Amino acid sequence: MTQYRLMMLGPPGAGKGTQAKRIAERLDIPHVSTGDMLREARRKGTELGKKAAEFMNAGDLVPDDVVIGIVRERLEEEDAAGGFILDGFPRTRPQAEALAEMGVELDAVINIDVSDDEVINRLGGRLSCPSCGAVYHEEAKPPSKDNICDECGHEGLITRDDDRPEAIKQRLKGYHKQTAPLIEFYEKEGVLKNVSGVGDPNSVTEAIVSELEDL
Ligand code: AMP
Repeated sequence: MTQYRLMMLGPPGAGKGTQAKRIAERLDIPHVSTGDMLREARRKGTELGKKAAEFMNAGDLVPDDVVIGIVRERLEEEDAAGGFILDGFPRTRPQAEALAEMGVELDAVINIDVSDDEVINRLGGRLSCPSCGAVYHEEAKPPSKDNICDECGHEGLITRDDDRPEAIKQRLKGYHKQTAPLIEFYEKEGVLKNVSGVGDPNSVTEAIVSELEDL
């Protein structure tokens, strides 16, 4: 059986989370999202969560050593032995190097391509469920009942602190400076797969799946 060790790359708001969840389900591999793990820690108020919160709320990246530590622990869990899809990690060159040092050789890095203008538009209208983390958009994907989460029924959808305009600008700046250079890094490794993130989410999923067919 093919072992899929995958990673999702792309700017904030590219649809990495949505697509990674779908790919994880199709291939029956765990979805490893550092953003989800950090938000969970913040919600629980753990030491890690408190440390991460100040960076996250400002739209800054959490320090490398913190994120590398949580990914290392997660990938040592049994369910990750047969493959996984990383979503939101690595986001910096030192994180990519740490992943390689853990002995992880990625089979494919899916780079979801979306322009800055599209990112601003998408994140500006994004609504999240504070209870289960489900994501909506004021225009493109409103919940079926106003202000109520379709997934868990929670009442009161919110704009994440890091989806506020100042934080969006900060996140994009961070993306271009620290994360975009990884495109070239993985291209050189011969594992980069470029997919356009514009258009209907289903066709983006199919484009990703077809890129994975020749693995
Ligand atoms: P995301 O949901 O992937 O956009 O992540 C939300 C926030 O969590 C980011 O804006 C960062 O503050 C933090 N974060 C997630 N993944 C990483 C990472 N690999 N390195 C540093 N910070 C991260």
